[in-house]
Amino acid sequence: ALLARLKDPSLVTDKALIAGEWLSAADGGKSFDITNPSTGDVIATLPDMGRAEAARAVDAAYKAQKDWAKKTAKDRAAILRRLYDLMLANADDLAAILTMEMGKPLAEARGEILYGASYVEWFGEEAKRVYGDTIPGHQQDKRIIVLKQPVGVVAAITPWNFPNAMLARKFAPAVAAGCAVVSKPAAETPLSALSLALLAERAGLPSGVFSVVTSTDSSSIGKEFTENAKVRKLTFTGSTGVGKILMRQGAEQIMKLGLELGGNAPFIVFDDADLDAAVEGAMVSKYRNNGQTCVCANRLYVQAGVYDVFAEKLAAKVAALKVGDGFEDGVNAGPLITQKAVEKVEEHIADALSKGASIMLGGKPADRAGLFFQPTILTGVTSDMKVAREETFGPVAPLFKFESEEEVIEMANNTEFGLASYFYAKDLSKVFRVAEALEYGMVGINTGLISNETAPFGGIKQSGQGREGSKYGLEDYLEIKYLCLSIE
Ligand code: ADP
Repeated sequence: ALLARLKDPSLVTDKALIAGEWLSAADGGKSFDITNPSTGDVIATLPDMGRAEAARAVDAAYKAQKDWAKKTAKDRAAILRRLYDLMLANADDLAAILTMEMGKPLAEARGEILYGASYVEWFGEEAKRVYGDTIPGHQQDKRIIVLKQPVGVVAAITPWNFPNAMLARKFAPAVAAGCAVVSKPAAETPLSALSLALLAERAGLPSGVFSVVTSTDSSSIGKEFTENAKVRKLTFTGSTGVGKILMRQGAEQIMKLGLELGGNAPFIVFDDADLDAAVEGAMVSKYRNNGQTCVCANRLYVQAGVYDVFAEKLAAKVAALKVGDGFEDGVNAGPLITQKAVEKVEEHIADALSKGASIMLGGKPADRAGLFFQPTILTGVTSDMKVAREETFGPVAPLFKFESEEEVIEMANNTEFGLASYFYAKDLSKVFRVAEALEYGMVGINTGLISNETAPFGGIKQSGQGREGSKYGLEDYLEIKYLCLSIE
């Protein structure tokens, strides 16, 4: 069913890419199935690799990186530019592969491919501007020169919610900077990573510079990545819990870490907000990817004066969402990724109801077989409920009522997370006060969409460290070396 949808069926492979070789299950023994979350159908079977294959990929990356780093930035950029062009030319196929393995609506999947490709384009261009520094010497005979060099072999572990873009925005800056990458995509969604690797190969990326280790044994692969001394940096997007495990493991060799972890984004609507714009923002920020993004609005705080009107306007839009298979026309809410995800959403709703919240809309699994859930709005939500403290990762908008600016800032910051935040207001002084007071790495002001390749994406507190995108995202793959030169 998948292959029939593609113009170029060769973009789907049943092999992993280890050290420049495409290996099938037969070579390694064990295998695992990839299923379509909309139908439960098996769409592919991939080799279930272990530590030995990860180590081989690291060895090859270690060797290949030396020559890759010697190339000029212009030469590396030319390959990334070709990859960008190939991603665009194959966007429909890449989107279909993504929808098939992950479930998001086809139009959203296409959007993700363009978004992922934008990092490939951007970092290729940006790598030409890795400037060092010269510093006036501290003594008459001294000259001080600062070089920026690639960190070396980078291991990348990525999640299932953006199977293309989360990898593209690690792969692109690393490779642009002159690093080699060994990746392990989520076991739910490895096909998008493999198709990216196929295109990178066609674009001329040298053998060994990029490997994709497919595996269900993520903890063994994570151990290899953190214990292998040839790996110099680990970049991870996923849960805070796993981020902590990797940080502990990486401590042994003081591993450089990039961590994009969980969030608990507040979305604040003040009395003076443009309510229609706020509703639009809430729709994209809350319901995009069916609520399964780390920057999704998780807690919607609405000031008392506009609470009822905002809720009515939001409900009208949410009621119009069409739930279904991402390949069906007009669908804008796909399935959740697993049964466990459905249960978490149900648990959060039940907990809120037991503590006094009411269902304004939805609240139950959708009326069709599978992992589909009704887009939901909860009103009368309070801080003691699970929806206030944990990431729901589903299509549930809990509406909290607040009175004052001070009160809402305190509630918004009362979490161990610090990734994205959003607010809607017009008064300029308030805009600055609130933007500066929110303890988050990112603040969307009168917008619900903040992520793009030119801006530094990342969190503070337990949402992680490091930034992806922008010039800062490239710095994370570079080391500083200082030369002290003594002259006659
Ligand atoms: P999610 O809730 O998005 O599944 P996870 O943090 O569990 O978040 O998964 C994100 C990525 O981390 C996936 O590729 C997963 O396979 C991987 N992963 C999970 N546990 C570990 C671990 N102990 N070590 C290394 N990687 C892991």
